[in-house]
Amino acid sequence: MSEQMNYGEDYKYIPMTSISSGEGHEVLPDVYSYTIQVVNLCMVGNPMNPTGWTLVDAGMPKSANAIIREVESRFGSNARPNGIMLTHGHFDHVGAIVELVEHWNVPVFAHELEIPHLRGEKSYPEADPTVEGGLVARMSPYFPNEPINLGNHVEPLPSDGTIPILTDWKWVHTPGHSPGHVSFFRESDRALIAGDAFVTVKQESLFKVLVQEQEISGPPRYFTTDWKQAWHSVKKLKDLKPTVAITGHGAPMKGQVLTDNLTLLVNEFDKIAIPKHGRYVDGLES
Ligand SMILES: [Zn+2]
Ligand SMILES: [Zn+2]
Repeated sequence: MSEQMNYGEDYKYIPMTSISSGEGHEVLPDVYSYTIQVVNLCMVGNPMNPTGWTLVDAGMPKSANAIIREVESRFGSNARPNGIMLTHGHFDHVGAIVELVEHWNVPVFAHELEIPHLRGEKSYPEADPTVEGGLVARMSPYFPNEPINLGNHVEPLPSDGTIPILTDWKWVHTPGHSPGHVSFFRESDRALIAGDAFVTVKQESLFKVLVQEQEISGPPRYFTTDWKQAWHSVKKLKDLKPTVAITGHGAPMKGQVLTDNLTLLVNEFDKIAIPKHGRYVDGLES
């Protein structure tokens, strides 16, 4: 290893889970969604191909063994991806990445605006416990926000929207929840991996997270710092007319239910998504 990788000083196991933890769903024949506690990651690629597939996002802290176990049960023992794509660098999407990169020795790609948070240079703004929404929001100061350091194992995505290791997909810049947040879209079947641009569970509510009640929701509130951008990003995703969406939190959503819910979210984003009060809303002009 050319350089020592590490997590931030505030890295820790987060004791929070849901009834879906440990569940996997083949959302499409080559798109498999797997839930670690309260967050989803995706394995994109044909299960018959043990090295020609890509991992999207990297789970909760201390979940590397569970991820490797699930990968090997889908792709065979010693299977490894051709790389890891990140929707963004929040702790619940990079929680096992250091161990995974060490284990598989694969490249990681993220938007260039996320890179400082992945090379140990810049913390994310602290989560906002005062935000409207529920117990998870109030627990959020406990969540890690310091940058991890992947050194030169992480590379910026090419600026033209292509993805070097996932050639039939494109990345779409969907900032707001974080500056370099991206979503992944495949034109041929209009499949969308949305990350936290929008989610299908009310992520601030401990009860709704626990039972995974499906409900379209904006990005998780406690970490979202730019609500105007977040709204614009959801519009951008709706305009892609996705037929299926896998989100960072909550169950996948498809077909007319997805279309109707995305339309509702775009039209009523100020009511559904933007909190009435919170550190990153006060001063927001409408
Ligand atoms: Zn996030
Ligand atoms: Zn998340």
